[in-house]
This record gives sequence, C-alpha cells and structure tokens, in this order.
Amino acid sequence: MPSIPDITLNNGQAIPQFGFGVFQIPPDETAAAVSTALDAGYRHVDTAQMYRNEAGVGEAIAKSGLDRGEVFVTSKLGNDAHEPDDARAAFDATLKALGMDYVDLFLIHWPLPGRYGGDFISTWRTLEEFYREGRARSIGVSNFQPHHLRRLHGETDIIPAVNQIEVHPYLTQDEVRAFCTEHQIAVEAWSPLGRGGVLADPVVMSVAKRAGKTPAQVVLRWHVQRGDIVFPKSVTPDRIRENIDIFDFELSAADVEDLSALNRDERTGPDPDKF
Ligand code: NAD
Repeated sequence: MPSIPDITLNNGQAIPQFGFGVFQIPPDETAAAVSTALDAGYRHVDTAQMYRNEAGVGEAIAKSGLDRGEVFVTSKLGNDAHEPDDARAAFDATLKALGMDYVDLFLIHWPLPGRYGGDFISTWRTLEEFYREGRARSIGVSNFQPHHLRRLHGETDIIPAVNQIEVHPYLTQDEVRAFCTEHQIAVEAWSPLGRGGVLADPVVMSVAKRAGKTPAQVVLRWHVQRGDIVFPKSVTPDRIRENIDIFDFELSAADVEDLSALNRDERTGPDPDKF
C-alpha cells in the first residue's frame, strides 16, 4: 500500500494529501468505484450533496471493513440550501445518506454572489454550528476568492480549514494559493488533471517520459510537491490504481517549474465571481 502523507489543517486535524473524487460518477456506480479506490489504498473521499452519490460512498466504506476513523470523508453544501434552516436539513440528509454520525470536512460548495443577496456569512455561521456540535470535524469553503475569504475573516469566528479551488497546470492559481497559505487555509486542487485536458500537452508528455511515469502521474505528483491536496476522479480500475501510484518518485525542481509555466489561466469550470 502506498504511504500517503497527511497535511495538518489549521485546527490540528490531519487530512490525507491524496484522495478520490466522485464528481460525475453515477449514483449506482459510486460504491463500486469507491471500493476499488479503498482496495488500492485511498483513505480520503471527496463527495458533495450535488453529486447525489453520498449513499454510494457510505456504502463502500461500510462494506470495506475499515474503521470509520481510517477514512477521511468530505461533503459539500448544495447551492439550493444556503439559508440556515435549509443548510441544517441538508446537512442532516448528508449524514443520513452516508450512514455516518460525522463528516471529516464539510464545505460551502460555491460562494454564489448572485444569490441569497450575496450573503454567505449566515451560511458559514451555520457550518460553525456543525463544527461546534462535532458533526463536522473540520469546515471549509470551495471556490472562494480572496475577497470572499477576507469577508469571512472579518465577520465570523472560525477560519476555513480549506479552500477547494480549480487547479491544474493550465490554471495554477498562484494568487489565491498565496493568500490561502498566508492565512493558514489549506488548498485543495479540484479537477487536478484538468478533467484529462492537460494530459496530451507536449510538456506534460516529455516530463512523463523523463520520469518513466504516465502523464496523469506526473501531473498529480506536481500537485503534491506544490503542497496542495488532490483527489482525481476515475471509474476505470486501472486508472484508479495508476493515479495513486505517485509516492515512489520525485519530480526535479526544473520539472515542477516547467509544468507550472504551462499556466494560461484557463478554467474548465465556472468563474466563482460570476457563477
Ligand atoms: P479530474 O481532473 O480528476 O479528471 C477526471 C477525468 O480525467 C476522468 O473522468 C478521466 O476522463 C480522466 N482521467 C482520470 N485518471 C486518468 C488517467 N490515469 N489517465 C488518463 N485519464 C484519466 O476531474 P474532476 O473529476 O472534475 O475533479 C476531481 C474531483 O474534484 C471531483 O471528482 C470532485 O471530487 C472535485 N471537484 C470539485 C469541484 C468544486 O466545485 N468544488 C468541481 C469539480 C470537481
């Protein structure tokens, strides 16, 4: 089994730096994919209310024979449930679907500047309740820009443990990542492979050839060496195993720089200031 490093969050909780993402995995295929990942050594799963597959995640973990404490589970609040009472009901439903009495990490999925009168502060205060109750061991945000994080900093009690943002070689997010580092917020890189879009890049392919690894492996290794938390998605068993096999080699500083230099500020997903 690969030995996956932990990152210590700003509240002292440990999170495995590498995990399994389940966005776009159909509900009826999720338990099988998560079981394959757990068998391969993954101990961290990233789901969301909007993915509608939390039940499959819970089912695979329950069947795995692992103790609950051995797997780090993240979910995220649905965009329709930001009003505090809705958020409470949605969070109860998350725990029920997972079949768990806590999640390791719960996130606001999107800041949604055009909805709820731009108010994500009362939503965050509701997540603070879940944290104080011990039903979310850590709380954080996703797709927050520095100006959103500054508002939380000024108006609420708890600093987010993580900010989950889109990051890959075509979108290196240097500004948001530097802001997060300065404020002890760990960065989680979503779509770490650019949904597969960066893998045919000639620079990625030449780094892979030099390292004797696949394009996906060197891109995932690049994230890990930059210090971000990653959870690539795949439903293909061979790829699930390939993606975790990145803890037996290191990229040179020059390779890391070459991959970072591919940045072209190109998103695969929505712009958080507009969505
Ligand atoms: P990803 O970058 O992980 O790419 C997944 C795709 O890459 C797969 O569908 C497959 O086509 C390809 N792929 C995977 N492994 C491969 C391999 N070894 N070789 C070749 N191709 C391979 O994209 P993602 O699923 O969008 O992101 C990963 C996770 O991030 C999600 O599952 C989810 O948990 C999270 N996420 C969060 C947000 C958010 O708003 N917070 C948004 C998107 C994704």
